[in-house]
Amino acid sequence: MWYRPTPWDVLELEWCPRYLWLSKRHGVPMTPNMAAGRGAEAGLRRFLAKALGAEPKPVYIDAGWAHGVVDILVKRVAASPVEIKTGLPRREHKWQLYAEAYLVKAAGCAVYTGYITYGEKIYRLQISKAELKAAETLLVKAAEVIEGPPPPPVKTGKCAYCQYRAICTPT
Ligand code: SF4
Repeated sequence: MWYRPTPWDVLELEWCPRYLWLSKRHGVPMTPNMAAGRGAEAGLRRFLAKALGAEPKPVYIDAGWAHGVVDILVKRVAASPVEIKTGLPRREHKWQLYAEAYLVKAAGCAVYTGYITYGEKIYRLQISKAELKAAETLLVKAAEVIEGPPPPPVKTGKCAYCQYRAICTPT
């Protein structure tokens, strides 16, 4: 495995494996929603960091075969990654958070919880060995998808607003 997967890759994998594969070949086009989210993130990060008692800065974590950035890292007796979201809740987000927790653990910190935030709302998730193991499996799978042939397109409701619909041709 030559590719070093990230929690962001896990997010894209859980959204659609073909999306992940295409994003690595074509980049991810910035949508108006994404641009608005980026604009709002700095202010939100300060608010959330204060609420959680953490430094308002992203933390890069290098776990060797996998790596990535955590939006905020809460450090108490154990450490808790915080994933900031500015859009609507989606089921894929928790897997991104679990992958971040995996990195935190692999970097040598105890981790039992993480947070996903939507705007100023903060949701606390328990993280056990099962979630960490599942996250490890998804990181490996993301790398395999990126290194492999294109996954077949599978038409779902997501395709209607996917940035790659023009080049994907789902059936
Ligand atoms: S158009 Fe559909 S199948 Fe193709 S990458 Fe997007 S979500 Fe996946």
